[in-house]
Amino acid sequence: MGKNRQGITRRQAIAGAGALSLGVITLRSSRAEAAINWDHETDILVVGSGVGAATAAITAHENGDAVLVIEKAPITGGTSAKSAGVLWIPDNFTLREKGITDKKEDCLRYLARYSYPEKFNPADAQLGLSTREFGLLEAFYDNASGAADSLRGHGALKLGEWRMFFLDRPATDYLDHVPENKVPAGRALGPLKDDGSMGGGPELMTQLTSAVKERKIPILTNHRAMRLILNPDGRVAGVEAESGDAKVRIRIRKAAIFATGGYVHNPEFLGMYQPSRLWGSCAMPWATGDFINIAGAAGARMGIMSSAWRTQIMLEEALQSSKLAAGVFFPPGDSMVQVNRHGVRVVNENRNYNDRTEVHGIYDASQAEFPNQLLFMVYDQRTAEGFAGVYPIPADSNTASQVLKGNSLEELASDIDRRLSEVAKQTGGVSLGPSFASNLKNTLERFNGYAKSGIDGDFQRGQAAYDTEWHQVFSPMKADSEWPANPGPNITMHPFRDEGPFYALILAAGALDTCGGPAIDASARVLDTEDQPIPGLYGAGNCIASPSGEAYWGAGHTLGLSMTFGYIAANAAHLEPLDKA
Ligand SMILES: Cc1cc2nc3c(=O)[nH]c(=O)nc-3n(C[C@H](O)[C@H](O)[C@H](O)COP(=O)(O)OP(=O)(O)OC[C@H]3O[C@@H](n4cnc5c(N)ncnc54)[C@H](O)[C@@H]3O)c2cc1C
Repeated sequence: MGKNRQGITRRQAIAGAGALSLGVITLRSSRAEAAINWDHETDILVVGSGVGAATAAITAHENGDAVLVIEKAPITGGTSAKSAGVLWIPDNFTLREKGITDKKEDCLRYLARYSYPEKFNPADAQLGLSTREFGLLEAFYDNASGAADSLRGHGALKLGEWRMFFLDRPATDYLDHVPENKVPAGRALGPLKDDGSMGGGPELMTQLTSAVKERKIPILTNHRAMRLILNPDGRVAGVEAESGDAKVRIRIRKAAIFATGGYVHNPEFLGMYQPSRLWGSCAMPWATGDFINIAGAAGARMGIMSSAWRTQIMLEEALQSSKLAAGVFFPPGDSMVQVNRHGVRVVNENRNYNDRTEVHGIYDASQAEFPNQLLFMVYDQRTAEGFAGVYPIPADSNTASQVLKGNSLEELASDIDRRLSEVAKQTGGVSLGPSFASNLKNTLERFNGYAKSGIDGDFQRGQAAYDTEWHQVFSPMKADSEWPANPGPNITMHPFRDEGPFYALILAAGALDTCGGPAIDASARVLDTEDQPIPGLYGAGNCIASPSGEAYWGAGHTLGLSMTFGYIAANAAHLEPLDKA
């Protein structure tokens, strides 16, 4: 690519770079490159040490490439090591062992239908998608099970079918009930411990990191990639990292693969790209979107910047710190609803976290406001006691300070109002509408009717297998509860009691991480503004514009994607011409 890569000398670029600026250094000549004192040299530099990065490093090594890993944190593993470790892999070996065929043609329909509902066209050869969008879905399907099998085959990761605890059955997808989903359960895998039991994110990353180390691939922690060093022709020649006060320059003979996570802990980017508010995230704190400026300075095109892997979070926790321990992946309870500031339900409370959280961003054009910015999870004594201790319901709703309460719905409304006034400066003044209490009364009456009939006429709660099965996984009733098990026709809904106390928790929009960034092609090559690959630059995981758009196909969606595109990137990078200069 001979296009403008800023055309500045290395000296100028370095001199102009502030301590925290991320970007690019363009070399004017091969002599300029020769003048650099390189600290390290490698075929493939992997930036980050989460699942995408570890997969890329192991794959590159197995391909015979020299690999170096740099990680900006003092520890390895990224958010991947904090996760539940579930990986969504279509046509995986456990399905095949059971004789279940997850056909490409069918699976692509599911992916396209969920990722691009606005343009999905089953009659079209590309299902209504652009060539790039369709190519990314195809690349995922074509490589996902290969990536998992390759890691298993090389002894880098032990995997097994991820089964839903309590139910002991394969994981049901997050949109199981559309006709395009022909294999609605069983695509989720998880890391197996030595004793054969299922592990989580720590196990996943312990195994992958050990595999990296066993291959003698150096991992330099406390090394933050800051800028690309580009040859005059625009090819990536190296990366400049910072380690403490030192600048570390790494010469790259083939390619740099970034898998550096999203920007969810970058307040400036959140302000720029998330039009409705994103209050906090359970991602590790290093998710600051460094790759956006690094690749942007090299001319990368950005995609779906306002997207995120969404989950509801507890407002009270987010007010303390936007760096959270956990999200409200599934709100527990059956005599429980979520209402907005007007006291009305706005969502199926049992939908998956990513889709459910989208409703926080709905804009009211008449009032010029986000009426769902905060939602109130209202529950009664049955749920308070029967589901006590199932996050976010505390062990004792009567004593926990984050729980708002009242013996009547009017009293509950006043307590919510009181708390909203106390935190008004931090929330931008969100308050309850004047009819909140009366609307809430009507909402509960209506919900009680739905609970008795088993049919949620507004949001179909409990109609899909996802709703009822994940309800049992995430929302188990206490075994020793004095409240009877739900005897109704729909276990996700139970009528509210007529009398109080009533309780509420305030929920806000959060995220596992963001998923917008530099756009890639089906080989995981980062694209420039003219859709041409930036030579030698690859990306995988949350640091790039997600190949799935905004959809979350099933449990393990983000780890499955990151692993797969880390694998694709390493295989494509292997074929890059070796820069011997
Ligand atoms: C509690 C929780 C549970 C979850 N459970 C699941 C699950 O079961 N399944 C699932 O699919 N998803 C899950 N997720 C989401 C999932 O963890 C992330 O989407 C996934 O780990 C992202 O992986 P990644 O490869 O993009 O990078 P990450 O794991 O985020 O790693 C990125 C790494 O890059 C490093 N880095 C950043 N910038 C630089 C730089 N400039 N230079 C060098 N290094 C840098 C970071 O320090 C970090 O170590 C969960 C998330 C949370 C918080």
